[in-house]
Amino acid sequence: MSRLSWISNELEEQRKARLLRSKIEFTPLADGLCEFEGRRLRNFAGNDYLNLAHDQRLIDAACKAAKEAGVGSRASAVVCGRSPWHVRLEQKLGDFEGQESALLFPTGFATNIGVIAALVDSNDIVFCDRLNHASLVDGCRLSGARLRVFRHRELSGLARELAKADSYRRRLIVIDGVFSMDGDIAPLADICDLAEAHDAMVLVDEAHGTGVLGANGRGACEATETEERVTVRIGTLSKALGSLGGFVTGSESLIEYLLNSARTQIYSTAIPPSVCASALEAIKIVEAEPERRRRLEQLSSTLHQELASAGILPLPGCQGAICPIPLTSPEQATLAAEKLRAAGFLVGAIRPPTVPKDSSRLRITLSCAHSESDVRDLVKHLVECL
Ligand SMILES: *Cc1c(COP(=O)(O)O)cnc(C)c1O
Repeated sequence: MSRLSWISNELEEQRKARLLRSKIEFTPLADGLCEFEGRRLRNFAGNDYLNLAHDQRLIDAACKAAKEAGVGSRASAVVCGRSPWHVRLEQKLGDFEGQESALLFPTGFATNIGVIAALVDSNDIVFCDRLNHASLVDGCRLSGARLRVFRHRELSGLARELAKADSYRRRLIVIDGVFSMDGDIAPLADICDLAEAHDAMVLVDEAHGTGVLGANGRGACEATETEERVTVRIGTLSKALGSLGGFVTGSESLIEYLLNSARTQIYSTAIPPSVCASALEAIKIVEAEPERRRRLEQLSSTLHQELASAGILPLPGCQGAICPIPLTSPEQATLAAEKLRAAGFLVGAIRPPTVPKDSSRLRITLSCAHSESDVRDLVKHLVECL
C-alpha cells in the first residue's frame, strides 16, 4: 500500500491542475448523436467524419462475417489470424490507395510504432514535427534512432537538421498528414522537396485524411499531390472508415519487409474478420459516395463563416473537419465543454498532455451526419459558453 502512495500524490497534482481524466460513459447512437447521462447530445467530438460507424451496410457486413467466422481472429496474422476477410481488405486498401500492397495492424497507434521502429534504429536519424500524434512520437522514441523534433511547420529548422544528418545510415521524416488536434494539413510538397534533397524517407500518418481529403478520398497525400513522393503511408480504419484497425500501404517489398519486422503486427492478435468486413464496406462507400466528402467541406465552410460572424477565432490554419477553438486554460476548456453538454452538444475539451502546455482548446469535429442548422446551433451556444 505505502509503496503506491506516490500514485495518490500524482493524481492529486493532476486534479489540482484540472488535468485529471475520468471514465465517462457515452452510448453512441445513429446520425451523429450519442447518449450521455440519459440525454441525447449532438456529437461534435468524434472522428466519424463520414457517418459510417452506424451505417447499416457496415453493420450488416460485420454481422455476416461474425456469423461465418466467429468473433475473435484467433491469433496474429502471421500465425493463423489472416482470414479471407483480411486478405480482401488488404487487397482493397492497396487498390484504393493506388499502391502495390497493404498490411493490416491492430490499431493506428500500433501501426505507427511498429512501422517506425522497423524502418530505423540506432544507426539512423528520425525527424518529427513537435505536434505529431503521440503514436508517431512514441514510435520515434522506441526505434532508438537519433530523434530531432522540429517546430510545427518550421521547415527551415527541418532543413537545418537534415543538412547535418548526412553521416547517418538512414534518414526518416515522420509527419501527420492532418494534425489531429490542430486541423491543419502538413506542407507535404515542401517536406518531400527536402526529403529528396537529403535522401530521406517520408512517412505520412493519414489518420484524419483517409476518406476525407483529396478528390478520391485518399487523404492529405492526394490533396497535396505527393502520393508518388511519399515513402510510407499509414492510415487507420477507426476514423472516417468507422471501424477499427490500422494499415500501411506501399511497395510490395516494403510490405513484405514490414510483415517480417513490424513487431506490433507480428506479436499482436489480428483484428476480427467482422471488423475487416465493415472496413471493406466503408472503403466501397468512400469510392461510391464522394458527396459525403463534399458535404463535410460544405459544413466546414458554414462552421468557419458562423464562427467569423460570431467573432470566435479558431486556431489559425485549421481547415476541413477539425476546428479547434483556443482557450486560455484547462479549466476554461472543461467548463466550456460542460456548458455545451448542458446545451445538448458534445465537444472535446483538449488539455495537456494531448496538446502542449498553455494551449488547451475545444476541438469541434464535423461529421456528414450533422446538418447546417446543427452547426449554426452549435455556434450560437458556443458564444454563450466561452
Ligand atoms: C487516432 C490517431 C492515431 C491512432 O489511430 P487508432 O486507430 O485510433 O489507434 C494515429 N495517428 C493520428 C494522427 C491519430 O489521430
